[in-house]
Amino acid sequence: MFHATLLCLAVLAAPAPADKPAVNVKDPVCGMAVSAKSQSVAVGGQGYRVCNKHCGEALQKDPDKFLDKDGSVKAEKKK
Ligand SMILES: [Zn+2]
Repeated sequence: MFHATLLCLAVLAAPAPADKPAVNVKDPVCGMAVSAKSQSVAVGGQGYRVCNKHCGEALQKDPDKFLDKDGSVKAEKKK
């Protein structure tokens, strides 16, 4: 149990390689503006820029909450 938890944390902390570079202009989790300098995380082979690692973890933990089925960022569609 303990080792399984450690492994899970290690996977989350490791920067997963993304097949497609991040192009989003808003943090999918909090909706803040992000730039090319922002760190990015990979979800399903697609990179997403996030404002900080906490948003990155939230995005990887529950991507359906923040992304549409086609991988687009829900926060960017809000008007
Ligand atoms: Zn954020």
